[in-house]
Amino acid sequence: MGDSGNMLADAITEAANRIIAHTDELTALDQAIGDGDHGANMKRGFEEVLNKLDELGEKPVGDALKAGGTTLVMKVGGASGPLYGTLFMAMGKELAGKNVDAGTVIQAFGSAIQAVMARGKSQAGQKTMLDVLVPVHAYLEANGTDDLNAIRTAAMEAAEATVPMLATKGRASFLGERSIGHMDPGARSSSLIIAAICDSLENAK
Ligand code: ADP
Ligand code: MG
Repeated sequence: MGDSGNMLADAITEAANRIIAHTDELTALDQAIGDGDHGANMKRGFEEVLNKLDELGEKPVGDALKAGGTTLVMKVGGASGPLYGTLFMAMGKELAGKNVDAGTVIQAFGSAIQAVMARGKSQAGQKTMLDVLVPVHAYLEANGTDDLNAIRTAAMEAAEATVPMLATKGRASFLGERSIGHMDPGARSSSLIIAAICDSLENAK
């Protein structure tokens, strides 16, 4: 496929379309252990990202991530908007002006996860998006980015692994023990975004 500009636009498009296609599933997951708005929140945010695709796709990766993150903060709302916004903005800030390769992306992803933890006052093990982001980052640090199928699998398995967890952060924590037995909606949306990026990188090979 084409130059890095197109790869970036393709990855953004794939991630946004994947989230939008799974709106109902994210709604249902959030109805089970939250207030049911995660699907609509994410759809609204990623539709706006698609509206800005031309603008984002022209920017260097770092600037595109910063602008995409800002868009998510403004449009997603809920708890997840500022957290996803922080993730992409922090990653963009880390990558700005750097040579973007697998190593710098993995390192920037790690810093961005730290920023999400600081913003959410949260960590892995609390049944949130961090239960996908942290293990996927650990996989990448150990194995690199070559095996896209394994990255996808790591993300999907990590989302599945939130089912038996007890929520101790976010709205689902209000349910106490009743949060057990359902997949965390933010973990699911994170796994969808990661899988979509893997798919777009595979298509570019
Ligand atoms: P809200 O909870 O305000 O309704 P959403 O439904 O859009 O917002 O998002 C809920 C998701 O946000 C949860 O499933 C969880 O993954 C994530 N989340 C909530 N609080 C935190 C936190 N403190 N740290 C990390 N992730 C969180
Ligand atoms: Mg919600």
